[in-house]
Parts: sequence; structure tokens; C-alpha cells
Amino acid sequence: MSAMKQQHNQKILLTGAGGQLGAALKTALRAKYGIGNVIASDIRRIEDPNFEVLNVMDADKMLEIVQDERITQIYHLAAILSAAGERKPRFTWDINMNGLINVLETARISKVERVYFPSSIAIHGHRTPIENTPQYAIFDPSTVYGISKLAGELWAEYYFKKYNLDVRSLRYPGLISHETLPGGGTTDYAVDIFYRAIQGEDFECFLEADTRLPMMYMPDAIRATLLLMDAPSTQISVRSSYNLHAMSFTPAEIAHEIKKHYSNFNIHYSIDPLRQNIANSWSNTIDDSSARNDWNWQEEYDLSQMVVDMLEKLTAKLPDQVQVA
Ligand code: NAD
Repeated sequence: MSAMKQQHNQKILLTGAGGQLGAALKTALRAKYGIGNVIASDIRRIEDPNFEVLNVMDADKMLEIVQDERITQIYHLAAILSAAGERKPRFTWDINMNGLINVLETARISKVERVYFPSSIAIHGHRTPIENTPQYAIFDPSTVYGISKLAGELWAEYYFKKYNLDVRSLRYPGLISHETLPGGGTTDYAVDIFYRAIQGEDFECFLEADTRLPMMYMPDAIRATLLLMDAPSTQISVRSSYNLHAMSFTPAEIAHEIKKHYSNFNIHYSIDPLRQNIANSWSNTIDDSSARNDWNWQEEYDLSQMVVDMLEKLTAKLPDQVQVA
């Protein structure tokens, strides 16, 4: 099937569309396939012209939507994130695991052509190599969120091998976006810091000054997702989830970069032991050569370019459209 033909015939269901990633991915998919061909869904109702309330635990409703709407691709984003998940471990396991299984089963039964499922650097643990983490390494996650993502990767690969379901996945680093506030992750500070800076306030950071983590600007994450989903099946050598890298920085480094634009800005530290512990178990940098070799992944934003763009976009939005966390 030519790329052009495939593009026109697609009908897409997005779960978790009301979240940080969902908002950005929805816009990108609709620009490509048209609003009528991209159904946004979430457990929470959102203002949207093509929307369904869908709890991903409701397998019957999911199947009904997929079959009635003749869905050809599912982007399954609904999940409970790392820090939020630690407050309700069993609940998080249920949503993250059974939600994914419902998607995989629905896709298998309905012969959906492609499924996208995001994994995360949260699969890393204390035994994972911290620098240049390889595609295949020891992964011993310390959070229920990380455990669910690692198990999810294995389920994705299982469905590919056993049922030939075309599931694709990326291990996102911390995502930074100006559109939506983050939803309870360990890297949320790297979004919140901008809101304080442009309002002339100091920022109190819940991670230590030198905690280095892999991060990515949302436009790069969206581009990577579309590149992966557009690649011919023969170019996909990783069926669990691809390592993906763009930049790595510490709270002190991002604060220093912001200070170049807002000279009065200051960062203070008030450590949250839960999130510090999680961050300490994640890698500093990542080897994403499989993504670069297989489907030509290349990031566009480094730290300083991302900071300039974030400040520009948020300054234009505030004070009317953005609510401060
Ligand atoms: P988010 O918390 O901002 O959004 C998640 C959305 O899922 C919310 O709108 C929520 O209402 C919805 N949801 C929760 N439970 C649901 C249910 N039972 N049924 C339907 N919807 C439900 O999260 P995000 O940052 O947009 O993340 C999206 C995906 O990307 C997740 O799978 C997450 O694990 C992955 N990811 C995100 C990051 C990041 O830094 N944001 C990093 C790595 C991976």
C-alpha cells in the first residue's frame, strides 16, 4: 500500500486524548488525517468536535467504537503516570495493564492495522546502566507505573509475534510541552518551572539540583511518533519499544538556561523523597541508535532551543489561556 493511499484510508481512535501527550498528538493526527478521521477519547469529557467518553477498562464500549467506526489505528495513551501511580499501586496496575490488554484484544479481534502504545524511561531501575542505556539491558523498574510499562512492552511484542498485530512503541523520556500541564510524572518540574519564571516568581524544585534525566520537547516526541507509525513494517526491528533520546539536563542546568532570559529568576530546592527516589533509578542518557538506524530518528530541539521556544509560546499565552499549576 502506498504511503499516500494509507494516509487517506485511516480512521483513528486516540485514548487518553485529554492528557499532556494526547492534546498534542490529537492536533498532529488531525492535521494529517482530518478531524473526522481522528476520534479523541478519554475517561473525562473534554471540549472537542469529535469525542467519545471511553474508560479503557470498558472493553465492550471500546470494541463497539472500533467496529462501528471502522477504526484502522489505535493510539493508546491512557495511563496513570509514575508519581501519581505510587499513591494507588493496585489501581494503577489495573488501568495501565488491563487498559492495554483491552486495546490489544480489540485490535486483534477487529483486525486493526496498527496500534501505538507509549512506554517510558520508567522501565529503568537501579541495575539499569545509567549512561547510554542500551536498547536491551537489565530493566528493574521501582514503580508500579514502570512495571506496567515493562510488562506492556512484552505484551505488545507477544501480540506481534503470536497474532501478527502491528503494535509499535517508543520509550519516551520526560516530555515538555507548553500546551497542557503535566499529569503526575517525575519530570513535571521541567514544565512547571517555566510558568513560575514568566510570572516573575522563584521556583521550588522537588528534585535535587544535579539530578540528570533524559527529556524531550513535545514537537520532537510527536514527530518521532508519526515517523515510527508511518514507517513500513519491514523497517521496524524493535517490537517491544524503541529507546528514544533528545537531551539530558539537571534542574540546575535548565534554571541556568532560563536565567539567560529572565535574569531575576531563581530556583530553590525542596526535595520530594518519593519523586527523588524514582528519578535516581532512571538513566542519564540513552542509546537510541535503533530508532536512528531503522526510521531515521533525529531530534530538532536541544535544551537552549527548547527553552527559547517554551518561553516564547507561554509568554504569548499568559495570562489569559494558561492556568498556573
Ligand atoms: P496525562 O496524565 O497527562 O494523560 C493521561 C490521560 O489518560 C488523562 O487525560 C486521563 O484522564 C486519561 N485516563 C486516565 N485513566 C483513564 C481511563 N481509565 N480510561 C480512559 N482515559 C483515562 O499523561 P500524558 O503525559 O499525556 O501521557 C500519555 C501517555 O504517554 C501515557 O501512556 C504515559 O505513560 C506516556 N508517557 C508520558 C510521558 C510524559 O513525560 N508525559 C513520558 C513517558 C511516557
